Amino acid sequence: TSFQAMSLSRPILRGLAAVGFTKPTPIQAKTIPIALMGKDVVGGAVTGSGKTAAFVVPILERLLYRPKKVPTTRVVILTPTRELAIQCHAVAVKLACNTDIKFCLAVGGLSLKVQEAELRLRPDVVIATPGRFIDHMRNSQGFAYDGTEIVVLDEADRMLEDGFADELNEILTTLPKSRQTMLFSATMTSSVDQLIRVGMTKPVRIMV
Ligand code: AMP
Repeated sequence: TSFQAMSLSRPILRGLAAVGFTKPTPIQAKTIPIALMGKDVVGGAVTGSGKTAAFVVPILERLLYRPKKVPTTRVVILTPTRELAIQCHAVAVKLACNTDIKFCLAVGGLSLKVQEAELRLRPDVVIATPGRFIDHMRNSQGFAYDGTEIVVLDEADRMLEDGFADELNEILTTLPKSRQTMLFSATMTSSVDQLIRVGMTKPVRIMV
């Protein structure tokens, strides 16, 4: 299969070409078509599988295809570490280089005040670590997360191992219920299953 066969829009195909992705990896080939249908997805995938583009591509496609008149935060991507959030942000920005989609990186170590000001501008996509995200969700005046349509939990098993189960539960139950949720995890533990039960609706499971 090819990216061209996935009926992606031109700006996204050009973004893929710009980053040098010519052929989808197995996780991308399986995830992108299902995610484009709006379904919840559980992906068994490790770092190096190409899972970042597997969720970023359908996200960008949806943002382009269903534009909003008033800017609002529509996507939340959670990753276990700042480094992963920074990497995810870099890939997403490059893939979106032919669009007007706005991103905000919200991780520890960067100024809360500066991030709060960025969130107030309603970036389309917020990429965050769970601790920092919940801090903003609870305390940042002007961070409107009630328009969230898509939530991604990247490396969910690692976030749980790092002790973020309560935070993830709170985030998943606070964000709007009618949304698409995508979860990626290298291992499927009982705590990952628990998170899936709390936060997802009839997910399609994809193993590569
Ligand atoms: P990830 O698992 O998302 O961290 O991606 C692992 C590595 O694979 C990164 O260096 C990506 O740039 C690269 N990559 C992801 N998708 C593709 C693709 N379709 N073709 C070539 N390289 C890719």
